[in-house]
This record gives sequence, structure tokens and C-alpha cells, in this order.
Amino acid sequence: MLAVSDDASPPNTLLVDCGGDVLQRLQACGLSIAPVDGLLVTHAHMDHVSGFPLFMEKIWLDDRERPIPVCGIEPALAQAQRVWDAFEPVHEGWEGIPPIDWRKVRHKRNARVWSEAPWTVTAAPVDHGDTPNVGLRFEHNSTDRVLAYSCDTAPTSSVVHLAQNADVLVHEANGVGDNHSTATGAAEVAAEADVDRLLLVHLPPGDKSDALREARSIFPHTDLGEELGTYSFAA
Ligand SMILES: [Zn+2]
Repeated sequence: MLAVSDDASPPNTLLVDCGGDVLQRLQACGLSIAPVDGLLVTHAHMDHVSGFPLFMEKIWLDDRERPIPVCGIEPALAQAQRVWDAFEPVHEGWEGIPPIDWRKVRHKRNARVWSEAPWTVTAAPVDHGDTPNVGLRFEHNSTDRVLAYSCDTAPTSSVVHLAQNADVLVHEANGVGDNHSTATGAAEVAAEADVDRLLLVHLPPGDKSDALREARSIFPHTDLGEELGTYSFAA
């Protein structure tokens, strides 16, 4: 899960993916679920969407009444719908579940995901093997700050394009197989996109110091994105 939030009161917050208990993660970061404006689901893998029924339960228990926008490409929305339907015997009797506002995103470059102030979010297909997937670019309209997220992907020009001149690029560095990136692959994308800062996420377990050193040799302003880490970008 990635939460993108500004410093308004209440904050304008968009969530990306829900692989586990979103509420627990938000609370561990000092955030709450109430001001969440929308959920973006990137692809159908379980570590990105399996927590959707739990997310719905938590916003219902939080007394949310307004619809929850859920945005994504068709296969990702279909997966969210399936896991939600799997729990139908549980939630069919619940009173007042917030309506789900499914918003389909086109699987092509410059696809519009979100255009409600203060965020403009666009998506582009990335290279995650046989699984359709998208990376995302978040533009904060009043500060002009830009965050890009590669999601799960091999290094691709699509992310170079998405992340062009971003303040920060959050790029995976899982390193395993053809459908993921190494830390150096992520650093090359960051350099080509001319971003200010690279955060590496989704690294395999174990010592990460070699991966960080190699990435920094290509793109010096690289850090490891810590689990439950909070990163701010002043205007
Ligand atoms: Zn994946």
C-alpha cells in the first residue's frame, strides 16, 4: 500500500493498492482512513488487491457514507470485485455499506486516473510479464509536486515517461525474474527520467546494502523506501 497525501486539513489522500489491512497500515503511519478520497488498484496480484474486502469493512465500520471511488484497469477492478464477492455471505446483511464507484482506467499511456483537485493522476502500462499492470504519476495541482510510482515492472520506457522530472520516483527493485527490476535497473530509469530522488521499494528480504550501493553508483540520490516510512516534499 502507498498513501499519497497532502497537508490540507483534512488531508487529500489517495491510496494505491490494498494487499493487506490498509487501516492498520495507515494508523501505524499516523494517518486515518476517514479522509481517503479514493483507492487505486494497479493489478490483479494478491499482494496488491487481496485486502479489498477488509478495506470495505473498515470504511463501513468508520461510518463512511459517501461512495468510495475505486479506480483501475479492467483486470484489476475485476479482481477486486471477485475478492469482494467471495465474502458476499458475510457482507450481504450489512446496513449502509458505502457504494463502490468503480472507475475504469484505460490500459494505455497518459490514461487519466483521477482529476479531482488537488490531484491529477495518470497511468501507463508497465512491463509485468503476463499480468496487465500500470505505473502512476501524481501531480499536486497547487504545489506542482510530482510523485511517480513504477508499481511492479521490469525497467521500461513507460516509467521513464511517467516519471519525467518528478520530485520523487518510487520504483520497485525486487530483482527476481524478468517481470521485476534490479536496483540498478531502477536507478537507470531514475537517471533517464531526471527525477530529484529515487526510493527503492519491494526489495527481496535480507541485506539491502549492496543493492543500495549499486543504485547510488548510477543515481546518487537514492534511498531505501522503509516499510511504514513517511516521506514529505516541501512546496
Ligand atoms: Zn505484481
